[in-house]
Amino acid sequence: MDRKAGQTPGKDVYADLRCTLEESVLGGKVKVSYPRRVICPTCDGKGRLPQTFIDCDKCENNCGLVTRECVATVTVPPGVASGATLRLKGEGDQGSPADGDLYVKVAAETVSKGGIIRRQGADLYTDVVVRYPKRGEDTSVRVRTVEGDWGTLKVSADAKIGSALRIGGRGAPTAPGETTRGDHFFVITKIAFDEDVVKASGADEGSEDGAN
Ligand SMILES: [Zn+2]
Repeated sequence: MDRKAGQTPGKDVYADLRCTLEESVLGGKVKVSYPRRVICPTCDGKGRLPQTFIDCDKCENNCGLVTRECVATVTVPPGVASGATLRLKGEGDQGSPADGDLYVKVAAETVSKGGIIRRQGADLYTDVVVRYPKRGEDTSVRVRTVEGDWGTLKVSADAKIGSALRIGGRGAPTAPGETTRGDHFFVITKIAFDEDVVKASGADEGSEDGAN
């Protein structure tokens, strides 16, 4: 007697899982769709029509299985690394006595949507522009972490382009499931002084006055 799907273990299935930077840092539930072979409902996995010797023409090569596009919900652990493989027991091809497993390979974005946040290992980076109302005085800059709006960070009067402000422990977990997290750095890429803008516009008005 042929060994049909009803008598053979289900095969393992492999799929790719794309997740955002935020999902890879904070963890989350991510859906993945993949082709999965399930027991043919017409012949109940036997490859032959019930109570007959007639081959089932609904399943592939009357093997007792049909391919369906299925969706599984993957629990992504916080701090998962791109390239890591996660196992979902029993979500692979159906069979007997057990279904196969589903293995998903994680492809995590290293840049957030809009390019605001970049991930390098456990640390996160964001470029910021610092505006000083007045030279020689401290200022502040409003920033976002992966959790959302953080509020403002103080910037000293002598901050330099290329230096970074740091929020400790707001990066990615150092390893999946770890509670220790890296840092989020805000790299100063531009510095502007409001008083220069005011002076410049004042000079423009002055020249217009002179022309009148
Ligand atoms: Zn069938």
